[in-house]
Amino acid sequence: MFSFDPPKGFLSNKTILITGASDGIGKCCALSFANHGANLILLGRSTKKLEKIYDLIHIFNPNGITIHPLNFASASVPDYEEVAKSVEKQYGRLDGLVHSAGMLGARCPIEHYPVETWEQTFQVNTSAIFLLTKFLMPSLRRSDDARILFTSSSVGREGRGNWGAYAVSKFAVEGLMQVLAKELEKTSSIKVNSLNPGGIRTNMRQAAYPAENPKSVPSPEILMPLYLYLFSSESQEIHGESLNFKDFDPLTYAK
Ligand code: NDP
Repeated sequence: MFSFDPPKGFLSNKTILITGASDGIGKCCALSFANHGANLILLGRSTKKLEKIYDLIHIFNPNGITIHPLNFASASVPDYEEVAKSVEKQYGRLDGLVHSAGMLGARCPIEHYPVETWEQTFQVNTSAIFLLTKFLMPSLRRSDDARILFTSSSVGREGRGNWGAYAVSKFAVEGLMQVLAKELEKTSSIKVNSLNPGGIRTNMRQAAYPAENPKSVPSPEILMPLYLYLFSSESQEIHGESLNFKDFDPLTYAK
């Protein structure tokens, strides 16, 4: 299994925005990045849940955390512009963007898929990612080593029946990653990748596999060495890649 043990505080001059920071993988990422000294802007749907994380992080990193409640299902363009403006005003630049927020939507055949759920799932899993990335690009360009990480899924790389809008929206995320990576490869130092975390013990996993014993899948902590690596200077060569936690090997990307 991939391991990476960077020096404590190696993210201390970095500012990183994480979506879906109120729970699951995004929350774990927020705590792990905060432990390594990053300034964090945490987005989530629930103010209460974000406040709990704020309290945990504020104890050891009082100046380095901002929370920004935003429901991607109902947010409109000015809300995303507002997030970008406040990042710009408070930090001046952005060194990292982790797109972890996501919703499962319905699990049923396309023929029976509820139209409203389809549209909402795309709004949360795809459009929100586009809008946030778009408006944060000026701040990301101000960093000399910025990273954007999209969160993918096995069903967003190979279609699977009954996964509906979730699967199709994750295909779109892969497409967005590839298009953006091509656009940036000659004009910027920003590195853009997607990561399929594989089965991880979270609320979403439990909703997708209600009969599964949650203890049979690993908790989000297992992913953290890879997340830290992807935001370290050691992963500078990795760009435009569809990564899998399960078989990640840094030697594949060594130049
Ligand atoms: P969780 O359900 O634990 O977390 C999802 C996060 O997204 C929560 O913070 C949630 O907020 C937020 N979110 C959901 N809907 C909205 C919304 N409308 N507006 C803003 N934020 C919202 O799931 P995971 O941590 O498992 O998922 C993280 C990412 O990993 C997702 O993109 C998922 O698709 C992907 N993934 C997960 C796998 C797994 O096995 N866990 C496997 C493959 C991919 P709130 O706390 O309010 O619910």
